[in-house]
Amino acid sequence: MIIKLSKRQDEILQIVKQNGPITGKEIADKLSVSRAALRPDLAILTMSGNLEARPRVGYYFNEKYELKQQAEQFIHQKVANFKAHPIVVENSTSVYNAIVQLFLEDVGTLYTVDSKGYLAGVISRKDLLRAALGNKNLQELPVSVIMTRMPNIITIFPEETLLEAAKKMMNYHIDSLPVVKEVDHQKNTYTLLGRITKTTITRAYVEIMEGKTV
Ligand code: ADP
Repeated sequence: MIIKLSKRQDEILQIVKQNGPITGKEIADKLSVSRAALRPDLAILTMSGNLEARPRVGYYFNEKYELKQQAEQFIHQKVANFKAHPIVVENSTSVYNAIVQLFLEDVGTLYTVDSKGYLAGVISRKDLLRAALGNKNLQELPVSVIMTRMPNIITIFPEETLLEAAKKMMNYHIDSLPVVKEVDHQKNTYTLLGRITKTTITRAYVEIMEGKTV
């Protein structure tokens, strides 16, 4: 569970982070308040694990607790907040044009949708490389022949977490997941909302560890 700290508690944490070990009296002096006024905040911060206190030494910052909190925050981030724009091509697009699109959009995976706009296929870099090997006529070959198609596409919902997305990518050995809204589960019809890639996960990790995301 992540405990939301008050402004005062946050100030205390920063002081201890920079100056610890530091006594309660020294913290109080820095904040220009009495030692007694700080007592409840210091109690909360030590009980929650943010700070540790040693007799005759003072308070010091618990680095492990901060790391644990950051990791916990990372795990609970929602796919909805990190999804990127999906790059979509038509089923009839040639492998040649799909390769061009991959470079133009600077992505690793393309998606196709059917005439109703439902997710139909996934085309990865290696799908295109495989098609290019030993195939001279890439301008004539439609991506629909080489793509991974429904119902074999692994998807993720916006309300799922980044941890769930990361696990799916690891378990299925894939680099990206289409973020979808379910239209009809039985018919495997999903509207495409976005994409989550391994890069998304790495970026979120760095942002959270550097304290850029709350
Ligand atoms: P690459 O093939 O460039 O290494 P991936 O690891 O993402 O990229 O793709 C591996 C294979 O899995 C490809 O054949 C691709 O079509 C397929 N694939 C990629 N993403 C998905 C997905 N979300 N669901 C099902 N299959 C996928």
